[in-house]
Amino acid sequence: MNTKPSVLITGASSGIGATYADRFARRGHNLVLVARDVARMETLATRLREENNITIDIIQADLTQPNELAVVESRLRDDSQIGILINNAGASLGGSFIEQTTDDIERLVTLNTTALVRLASAVAPRLSQAGQGAIINISSAVALMPEFGLSVYGATKAFVLFLSQGLSLELAPKGVYVQAVLPAATRTEIWERAGADVDALPPMMDVNDLVDAALVGFDQREAVTIPPLHDATQWQTFETARQAMIPGFAQTQPAPRYLGPK
Ligand code: NAP
Repeated sequence: MNTKPSVLITGASSGIGATYADRFARRGHNLVLVARDVARMETLATRLREENNITIDIIQADLTQPNELAVVESRLRDDSQIGILINNAGASLGGSFIEQTTDDIERLVTLNTTALVRLASAVAPRLSQAGQGAIINISSAVALMPEFGLSVYGATKAFVLFLSQGLSLELAPKGVYVQAVLPAATRTEIWERAGADVDALPPMMDVNDLVDAALVGFDQREAVTIPPLHDATQWQTFETARQAMIPGFAQTQPAPRYLGPK
């Protein structure tokens, strides 16, 4: 009988999600893997079961499809063994905003935000009731960089960062840990899938290094983990500046610079 919480990982068929699966398997957790490509998840699961003596379930789901997403939501609501959700499935989109199609934009937003928040919403009440558990949300350093040119992708990742920070404040008092992870460029299939030639791009972080670093943040119960940011005081300074504005928002009158001519 495995006493460790099971871990449900979305986007577990490749890249960061598959690496999280490997690491939580090595830690002795049973897994539930979610993605569209069952064959790849079966191959991964066969290896991880043999190496780690754990059970692994596979759910094939396209998380942009409401009926398929609902299956994963039900599993999160009903399976009391699942104590950790890794909201990792995500995609990017090539081209500039005016080159991207409206339908592709909607699909991206659905996968990166709607699916992610629905899954968090499915599991959070049960974890709060239990007084324990964790939700890991994979955001991106692009969430902090509108200058990068990935406007829609970055906006979805800013959503994930904000949601994670808010949920951390809401759920931590109930014993539930929420972590936002902000990778920068990491060598995975996401680049080819978005139409980029990964070999033509600058060197990237290895996915093993990225996930191992993110897990150091997880073990320290850090709310926001930014593996590539070497100077941690920069994030603290940013947060301090943001929080310093908050009292200033409580005004009944517009700022003088917005008062028109009398
Ligand atoms: P990846 O190798 O392309 O993995 C993406 C995963 O998401 C795959 O397992 C894929 O599986 C799954 N997925 C894609 N569309 C899906 C859908 N409609 N329904 C269900 N699953 C779907 O890329 P990755 O870099 O590991 O990305 C993982 C997360 O890290 C994403 O949220 C990404 O935004 C974030 N991130 C990546 C980087 C980077 O540089 N790599 C940087 C910052 C943040 P199937 O194709 O089998 O469905």
